[in-house]
Amino acid sequence: MSYQVNEKGYYGDFGGAFIPEMLYPNVEELRSRYLDIMKEDSFQKEFRQLLKDYVGRPTPLYYAERFSKKYGAKIYLKREDLCHTGAHKVNNTVGQILMAKRLGKNRIIAETGAGQHGVATATVCALMGLECIVYMGEIDIERQAPNVARMKMLGATVIPAKSGSRTLKDATNEAIRDWINNPEDTHYIIGSVVGPHPYPDMVARFQSVISEEVKLQLKEKEGRENPDYVVACVGGGSNAAGIYYHYLDHEEVGIIAVEAAGEGIATGKSAATSALGKEGIIHGSKTLLMQTDDGQITEPYSISAGLDYPGVGPMHANLFKTGRGEFISITDKEAMAAGLLLSQLEGIIPAIETAHALAIFENRKFKEEDVVVINLSGRGDKDLNTYIDYFNL
Ligand SMILES: *Cc1c(COP(=O)(O)O)cnc(C)c1O
Repeated sequence: MSYQVNEKGYYGDFGGAFIPEMLYPNVEELRSRYLDIMKEDSFQKEFRQLLKDYVGRPTPLYYAERFSKKYGAKIYLKREDLCHTGAHKVNNTVGQILMAKRLGKNRIIAETGAGQHGVATATVCALMGLECIVYMGEIDIERQAPNVARMKMLGATVIPAKSGSRTLKDATNEAIRDWINNPEDTHYIIGSVVGPHPYPDMVARFQSVISEEVKLQLKEKEGRENPDYVVACVGGGSNAAGIYYHYLDHEEVGIIAVEAAGEGIATGKSAATSALGKEGIIHGSKTLLMQTDDGQITEPYSISAGLDYPGVGPMHANLFKTGRGEFISITDKEAMAAGLLLSQLEGIIPAIETAHALAIFENRKFKEEDVVVINLSGRGDKDLNTYIDYFNL
């Protein structure tokens, strides 16, 4: 059995493309061409060159000695926080902008919640000189002013979504509407391993450079390609998919997925999809999502905007259901403490999303000789105000 996507676009029971009729031509064009385009030498050459010279890859694999000593395991950090723009998201947007160009699209749309994916998209549109339109909920525009300013400075147009709860899901609806109306010249850049097939697989492949590098780097440092565990936080699941990718079918490597419990799983203010979710369809994909008994999507909550998503990608739903992945949920409080701890033990201020992954060591024990690789998905600069308010700094 493989944990990779099958040729129909499914991970076990999850995935597929549940889309309105009118979106079919756009998604089908992408589905029928993405693998061939990604295989082209010229595509690979340009992608690899940009990852190296523009993103700053390979990112280091850093042995966190003081953090390891505290918790009694050999803990390595994969430093995606050192990527251009401060997180892993740019690996995917660089890949998708090259895909868009090969498909002959010169107009890019995206949706964004906290603004991180919007910034990563606006960045690569500036790089390539393509028009960029980012849909964002009106409420999120108010909450995330610095990222809105970044997008504007990069030349993007930010369009407020004014319907519904005026947050991410409404922005997504607006983006889909735009795409239906502009099928010829527009590519929709989705920011995580979510959405209809082929998006989850395409995004996972772009992010898979993370585990590709870990294999080489670990071989150099430990004499073996495979760690005992790979660990990542899961919002939609793209940084996790990146660090799991080349280990999915190596069952000797443990896979740990960390979700946001928010104020606690039982409080109603949470984003722990595996603990609370049921099977359903969100953004064109069959997966696990948080919903009421009559199928309304529940508003998620987490102190970290990047984990504040009511579903997980289909790869992760399958890892959960099959038991291949171990799922742990971490509260706001535990994550904030772990963020502070890493800052003071290693001199690295992590994104609050990432801090969730770092927090597992308080309760999840490992063996002294276990090699554990954590994906340090992003840096904490964007979260400084949250840290300041929380710790009265
Ligand atoms: C967006 C983001 C996440 C969550 O997204 P995934 O698709 O689950 O990786 C995690 N960490 C950081 C730093 C982010 O910016």
